[in-house]
Amino acid sequence: MNQNTKKILKSVIAVALIFIALILIFSSFSSLEPQSKQMTLNDLATQISAGNVTNIVVQNNTITATLKDGSTATATKEPETGLIETLKNYGVTPDALAKVPFQIKEQSGFEFWMSLLLPTLIPVILIGVFFWLTFRQAKQGATQAFSFGKSNIKLFGAFKDRVTFADVAGLKEAKQELLEVVDFLRNPKKYLDLGAKIPRGVLLLGMPGTGKTLLARAVAGEAEVPFFHISASEFVEMFVGVGASRTRDAFATAKRAAPSILFIDEIDAIGRERGAGVGGGHDEREQTLNQILVEMDGFDKEAQVIVLAATNRPDILDPALLRPGRFDRRVVLDLPDINDREAILKIHSRNKPLAAAVDFRQIAVRTPGFSGAELENLVNEAAILAARNGQKEILQDDLYQSIEKVMLGPERRSRALSKHEREVTAYHEAGHALVIASVKHADPVHKISIIARGQAGGYTLKLPLEDTHLRTRKEFIADLAVAFGGYATEEIVFKDLTTGASNDLSVASDIARKMVVRYGMSEKMGPITFGKTQELVFLGKEISTEKNYSESTAVEIDHEVEHFVRRAYDTAKKVIQKNRKALDFIADTLLKKETIEKNEFDAIIKKFAIKPIEA
Ligand code: ADP
Ligand code: MG
Ligand code: ZN
Repeated sequence: MNQNTKKILKSVIAVALIFIALILIFSSFSSLEPQSKQMTLNDLATQISAGNVTNIVVQNNTITATLKDGSTATATKEPETGLIETLKNYGVTPDALAKVPFQIKEQSGFEFWMSLLLPTLIPVILIGVFFWLTFRQAKQGATQAFSFGKSNIKLFGAFKDRVTFADVAGLKEAKQELLEVVDFLRNPKKYLDLGAKIPRGVLLLGMPGTGKTLLARAVAGEAEVPFFHISASEFVEMFVGVGASRTRDAFATAKRAAPSILFIDEIDAIGRERGAGVGGGHDEREQTLNQILVEMDGFDKEAQVIVLAATNRPDILDPALLRPGRFDRRVVLDLPDINDREAILKIHSRNKPLAAAVDFRQIAVRTPGFSGAELENLVNEAAILAARNGQKEILQDDLYQSIEKVMLGPERRSRALSKHEREVTAYHEAGHALVIASVKHADPVHKISIIARGQAGGYTLKLPLEDTHLRTRKEFIADLAVAFGGYATEEIVFKDLTTGASNDLSVASDIARKMVVRYGMSEKMGPITFGKTQELVFLGKEISTEKNYSESTAVEIDHEVEHFVRRAYDTAKKVIQKNRKALDFIADTLLKKETIEKNEFDAIIKKFAIKPIEA
């Protein structure tokens, strides 16, 4: 239910309550008169004459007589004539009248007006309330429609859960850099006195989930200056032409509060290179971007507003944004290393019950390449798993199982495989594992499984012993051979091929091509890179490649790629043929148990005395 519906519902309930209350009041008035029997004026006259009446109360046209026996009776007189006169007309003697005390009771003003107005008032009130509600709605709508040029910029203090640097694991350099920025704002004089220019913009760069937004929030928590926050996608909404005015408004707000920090999240939503869009670009976005540039240039030297921005697509950012005087400081957020991973896991399990035996180091060891967001997800999955099993605390095993879930997607045990398909899968994975164990420089086997997960029918996990930042030629060659492990096995064992190896093939082709054109790892082509590739190294993503070599070179490149691929394929084939017994044994074990863990696999390798060879 959204906010508005809630509000309306509340008003409706309020109106209904008022209505019920009014009805109650009204009905209590009508029941105020005591229950008494009716009599005619004639009867009353008779009773008075007989001396039976002890008291008479007159209210408006109603006469209430108290009789000797204590009972009361009411009569109604004609409105225009006085009571005494009327009674006299009915033959009551003045004597008899004098004996009876008369009370003339004025109806109280409130009662009078209530009885008069209530029946008409209720509908009027109801209609009034109805109109008021409608008008209020309409007014809201109107103000919304007229304020779309205003940014819905938020002051960060409003965030309920304050985040500080203590909640951010690792990212030491990034924190350092940002602390400096905060210090600029706190003590500008210190820096200005030394002739230092206050930085304008700081761009946080990093893959999704590396903690850019988190870090910005932590800066907000640490900064003792106002911190404004806006997501770039909010600049560009519904109406065309709003982006620029919203930008102006956001910057104006931040300037008014100076010294302050303005944080623009996901800036790539507007900061895309101008004119780069398909079909002539996106005018709205370009205008917004231009406005940002204008605003950033418009800060005078003393203006103490620092613009923080975050993006995971620095490659597509307009170069104008990166010019000095704009986002001239760039802070790169790397994927966490093993220590950071351990710290992140600890942070996110702070308020979860953990078994005493939980060792986050072991989890960190097995999660190279995981981002902070993935690690957070891992801990959460482990908690869900523990809850589903009815445990009171999270066990190490829950964490282990969650690694694969986060990495490869949930298990799909229900996927029905024919007997033959299961066999092919078991041999395919056994083939990968066997090649891993048989060539030097391949990361060790961590687990083999033929339970389908995500897209994969089965999987062989290999994990590096430690985080590495550089990859060697020998490792690539080993990886290539491993990739062909499944394919070669299918061919040798079943004399047939399946579509299950297609991903392996594309991975292999990709590695081989990069070795040739990018890393200069082919002896024949030499230490040259081919093709101008737009990418940022830390993102490891290729955006576009421009061909800057001749057709004949292209042919040579293809030959070299093929050479690497063939060599890997031959290695894989050789390994499988030589160790057929071990292969059969691993596949059999997989068919029986579905998964083989590292220890068990190591034992098998030992049993068959497999010695790794140079790939
Ligand atoms: P993005 O870089 O995509 O903006 P976020 O800042 O949204 O990533 O991070 C997603 C989540 O991952 C955060 O909410 C946080 O819980 C977790 N996370 C990422 N990096 C870290 C870190 N260094 N320390 C602690 N938690 C982290
Ligand atoms: Mg983010
Ligand atoms: Zn495979």
